[in-house]
Amino acid sequence: ILIIAVFIGMTLSLAGGYIISGRSIIPVKESIKRQQEFVANVSHELRTPIAVVLTNLEVIKTAPEETVRQQWQWLGNAYDETKRMEKVVTDLLFLAKVDAGQLNLEREKFNLAYLITDTSEKLMPLAAKKNISIYNSIDDKILLNADRLKMTQLAIILIDNSIKYSTENSAITISSKEDKGFFILKFKDHGIGIAPGDMEKVYERFFRADKARSRDMGGTGLGLSIAKWIADEHDWKIEITSKPGKGTTASVFIPMEQIYYEEE
Ligand code: ADP
Repeated sequence: ILIIAVFIGMTLSLAGGYIISGRSIIPVKESIKRQQEFVANVSHELRTPIAVVLTNLEVIKTAPEETVRQQWQWLGNAYDETKRMEKVVTDLLFLAKVDAGQLNLEREKFNLAYLITDTSEKLMPLAAKKNISIYNSIDDKILLNADRLKMTQLAIILIDNSIKYSTENSAITISSKEDKGFFILKFKDHGIGIAPGDMEKVYERFFRADKARSRDMGGTGLGLSIAKWIADEHDWKIEITSKPGKGTTASVFIPMEQIYYEEE
């Protein structure tokens, strides 16, 4: 077996070489390029907030005579950027575990409508800042057999995106329907939408259609790559449709075999 493995390895490296990455096989050169881009992105994502934290702390250090209010503002800036770094690092750790094959699903049956309501409530402070209402019309008798924590994470990512990219005073609706052997969970917003040319890229790590907007809203550019992994692992499919300037709908297709009904 060892000899065969060495032989296959040599043949592949002669041909330029391939690396098995996640669910796909990619050439070594491409993999190195991706790795370099990834490291550059991570460095950038962390250097920018570090610079902001340092600048704000330095002004406090060098201007002790400033008013408490002013100092409070500088500390607030440093706090916000530290929060951002925490989010980037948490998301990166999740993806590192994904890449190392260290994450498994722990399935259990839970009430989907309740999970979505709890998640929406957690995000209400963010929605309230833009006067956005969230409506949930999922049947409260539905039980989903899935990893509860990861489903929560996926719901946070999709609802958080709907809030981040929605216009003020708009509504987000979360609904469900059954169609052709699937239970379809829909997150619909009336936000800025996604340009057709960007549609394919939204699942790429660190991709953001509008860097400044995502940053302002606390985005990391990693949410949808995490959401996609969670969906793939459960055998779900995410489909995003969007009309620029009108809004976006993210649908999660769940096979009916994973759906149960709560008994009266
Ligand atoms: P981010 O943290 O930047 O939101 P994501 O990976 O979750 O990162 O999403 C990638 C990009 O896809 C976002 O930066 C944004 O440009 C676009 N996007 C995702 N969801 C929406 C949405 N509901 N409406 C408009 N654009 C969206």
